[in-house]
Amino acid sequence: MTNSAEKSARFDLVIIGAGMAGLSLLHLLRSSIEQGLKVALVERFELPSLTNKDAGQDTERPPSFDGRATALSYGSQQIFSQLGVWSEIEAAACSIENIQVSDQGRFGQTHIKHTDANVESLGYIIRNRALGEGLIANLPQQLTILAPDSVTAIEITANQKASLTLAAGNTLDAELVVMADGGRSDLAKQLGIQQQSHRYNTHALVTSVRIDRSHKHWAYERFTEAGPIALLPLGEDEFAVVWTLADEVIEEYLAADEATLIDRLQSAFGYRAGRIIALGARASYPLALVKAQEQIRPHLVLLGNAAHSLHPVAGQGFNLALRDAAALAEKINLAFDNGTPIGRWSVVQGYYQQQKTDQRNTIMGSDLLPRLFSQKNTALRCSRDMGLIGLALAPTVRKLFARQAMGLGQPAAKVAVHLSDQKHEQALGQLS
Ligand SMILES: Cc1cc2nc3c(=O)[nH]c(=O)nc-3n(C[C@H](O)[C@H](O)[C@H](O)COP(=O)(O)OP(=O)(O)OC[C@H]3O[C@@H](n4cnc5c(N)ncnc54)[C@H](O)[C@@H]3O)c2cc1C
Repeated sequence: MTNSAEKSARFDLVIIGAGMAGLSLLHLLRSSIEQGLKVALVERFELPSLTNKDAGQDTERPPSFDGRATALSYGSQQIFSQLGVWSEIEAAACSIENIQVSDQGRFGQTHIKHTDANVESLGYIIRNRALGEGLIANLPQQLTILAPDSVTAIEITANQKASLTLAAGNTLDAELVVMADGGRSDLAKQLGIQQQSHRYNTHALVTSVRIDRSHKHWAYERFTEAGPIALLPLGEDEFAVVWTLADEVIEEYLAADEATLIDRLQSAFGYRAGRIIALGARASYPLALVKAQEQIRPHLVLLGNAAHSLHPVAGQGFNLALRDAAALAEKINLAFDNGTPIGRWSVVQGYYQQQKTDQRNTIMGSDLLPRLFSQKNTALRCSRDMGLIGLALAPTVRKLFARQAMGLGQPAAKVAVHLSDQKHEQALGQLS
């Protein structure tokens, strides 16, 4: 790996952003990079400091590697296994064997078991920092890393190549630029790409809790009037918590003393997972659905949060980005093998065509759940209870739900593991 200081340089591909999406794409492109695809990665933060605990406050960190934990679907775990990333992070990941979904104050409730899908795990929970360390380890040696540095300007030039200006003063030309620069960058605006945004008027309060017993690999999703609360198994007696709260109360909850907050969480969530005995550090995130109105242009692809940022209710944001990255890598690898310029419209359009149904379905599901469960309307409440009861009673529906949650609902996940993983195929077979 080189940390290039050349004044101007030309690459086949420049990836902007070393968050989860950008780093995953690099692993997916390893074989082409090793065979001569010239790739540069530009990241605002120094790479090791992305995961270094002492590198500053969480608020100053890139969101991929802050104090949160991420639910990886079974499909994502299969992709990481194929890439050799899973062996780096496996020891830090906690498997989910059962999921209980319930509605506060209502009788509907369902239970999804790993045996419904005949797999050892429905998914995995991992601290973002451990995931980041695993993604930073073993990046392709031939990669040029420009970090800390940032892209300050981007244009598609007259000869239809992408041209980037960096804060350090260098310029980079590229056949293809992948903007994996998160949801907060304004590079897309520079290109005239608008965002479509829906605010849910809620924040996620993210923390962790210790309980008075082992979690036994259960995950819980509880819908309340303010929105969903997720408890996701982490350490032996520890859960990661994503707690949806109205915008008006978030500051008060962040400032509340530990005993008060434990009381409030326990009364909103109940005792199904045990008694909460301690609470970890807290952070909050405003919740919105944000979609870029264009994701592709010749020589340009938006990836990860830059393309779509989802409500975390179903833990799908990164899982979807990984399936996108896998589909994009497949098109780039194929074009590189055939000697086709990788920024050509047919290449980037081929990628988007392949992923747009997966994106639409995943975004729709992530958007529908918080909207449906935040309704006070009695008819809607009854029908969602019936939905939960239906899930509890009907094995086929439950299997379909499990299949979606596991990230196996879309053909792209199949493509991502190059159709080679027997177990993955068996799981798909069991679920269909
Ligand atoms: C509360 C919460 C819980 C979540 N839980 C889950 C979950 O359980 N499962 C799941 O799948 N998803 C989850 N998500 C979503 C997931 O966190 C995101 O999908 C993921 O972090 C997006 O990563 P990214 O790489 O696209 O963007 P980012 O993490 O934002 O990375 C962008 C990178 O680009 C860099 N950058 C930006 N601009 C520039 C520039 N101009 N030049 C150079 N570098 C630049 C930044 O420094 C950063 O490192 C959750 C989200 C939230 C808010």
